[in-house]
Amino acid sequence: MFDVTDAAATLRVAVIGAGPAGIYTADALCAQTDVPVQVHVYDRLPAPFGLLRYGVAPDHIKMKNLAATLQRIIEHDNVGFRGNVDVGRDVTVPELLADYHAIVYTYGASIDRKLGIPGEDLPGSIAATAFVNWYSGHPDFIEPFSLEATSAVVIGLGNVAIDVARVIVRDPEEMAATDVPDDVLAVLRASSLTDVHIVGRRGPEHAKFTIKELREMGELAGVDVVVDPAEVDEVESDDKDVKRNLDVFKEWAHRPLAGGKRKLHFHFHSRPAEIVGTDRVEALRCERPDGATYDIPAQLVFRSVGYIGTPMPGVPFDETSNVIPNDDHRVIGGCVEVGEYTCGWIGRGATGVIGTNRSDAKAAVASLLADTDKLLARAVTPHSVAALLSGRGVAVVELAGWNAIDAAEVARGAGRGNTRVKLSLWEELLAAASARS
Ligand code: NAP
Repeated sequence: MFDVTDAAATLRVAVIGAGPAGIYTADALCAQTDVPVQVHVYDRLPAPFGLLRYGVAPDHIKMKNLAATLQRIIEHDNVGFRGNVDVGRDVTVPELLADYHAIVYTYGASIDRKLGIPGEDLPGSIAATAFVNWYSGHPDFIEPFSLEATSAVVIGLGNVAIDVARVIVRDPEEMAATDVPDDVLAVLRASSLTDVHIVGRRGPEHAKFTIKELREMGELAGVDVVVDPAEVDEVESDDKDVKRNLDVFKEWAHRPLAGGKRKLHFHFHSRPAEIVGTDRVEALRCERPDGATYDIPAQLVFRSVGYIGTPMPGVPFDETSNVIPNDDHRVIGGCVEVGEYTCGWIGRGATGVIGTNRSDAKAAVASLLADTDKLLARAVTPHSVAALLSGRGVAVVELAGWNAIDAAEVARGAGRGNTRVKLSLWEELLAAASARS
């Protein structure tokens, strides 16, 4: 490990976003041996781990265990967590550049892509991004959803659609064993759903589900999967991944119904044309490739057609692809000639699984390290941001504060017989962080 007391020779890097991409960036910086580094990972939220904490579904417990690896990285001596700091509001990009030689933007893509169809804003039409954040205990999404409905539609053939559908069809007693907040569990327990429909505008060969996630849908207790044989039996592909998905659909299409409590229906070649309803959602109108339309009656429609990124004040943004424009991870058109980088969803778009961010972060760090001489040539004033934030009364949550939140969640989990139950209110999170020993 490097001695970071030699300030003149130490590369100071601010990473903006403490999700997997940001933390893997810190890891890649600490793993290299060319130059001593000091990395501070900033996040708007008091808790780190981004999409691992607020996107990966609560019942995917094995994936959630990746938090232990990310925790070890933020505990590294040359890494500091700086939570509860909103870059653009609490501190500006030029102020960060006065303290750090380089900034890596890794703040992800957090809002939903719009369908642009009539009825999209009716009550009962829900962005999957909001629903996922709510069941994950995100402090900005505490308004409760209601599942007092018999039929719901999930639009989209991606893994987020699968997550949403699985969370709402799964036996709520299985969800009780996860970290979902108590109020979320109460809503899942009160659900009266009997039918959930996953709707895609293209065929099963174009579904973006990964095989593990797809297979899981056929293994849920009390759930019958319904697939029309006419939509899958004759579809073939030479692509190994597509073929595996098709084999699953074909098996389901001929599987006898077991009389489960809930049914999960797949509909292909059904372009969402309108969300129908007067005061609230009553049905999804779908259009077939031949122009014929049909309605799926439903009181809830979850729109799961992708996440998009949003701009950060002072940072270039491509309004067409909704990413920070970059060349080999170097931000194009930034504030300084050399010193701004990006990776993760805000740099490449909302694609790939959590692990994809590891290689993406390594590539971003490779570009950054190739610029080391130029980066170190720019004079910076270490710790100037800490002084600014303190002067502005920002309650920065550092590692000890996050560890205190973590301990409070573990303690709350014990009350439900779980390893953890999330704190989901801003005031709870900040109170727990400030109660650190
Ligand atoms: P996604 O994989 O890009 O899927 C989006 C779906 O929305 C596609 O089926 C797409 O259909 C459809 N769509 C887009 N625009 C549409 C429109 N106007 N009308 C109807 N359908 C439309 O996005 P995602 O599900 O949000 O997932 C984002 C990323 O996170 C993915 O890389 C995913 O694998 C990853 N993820 C992984 C996991 C996991 O590993 N367990 C869990 C969650 C998310 P077309 O193909 O026709 O465009």
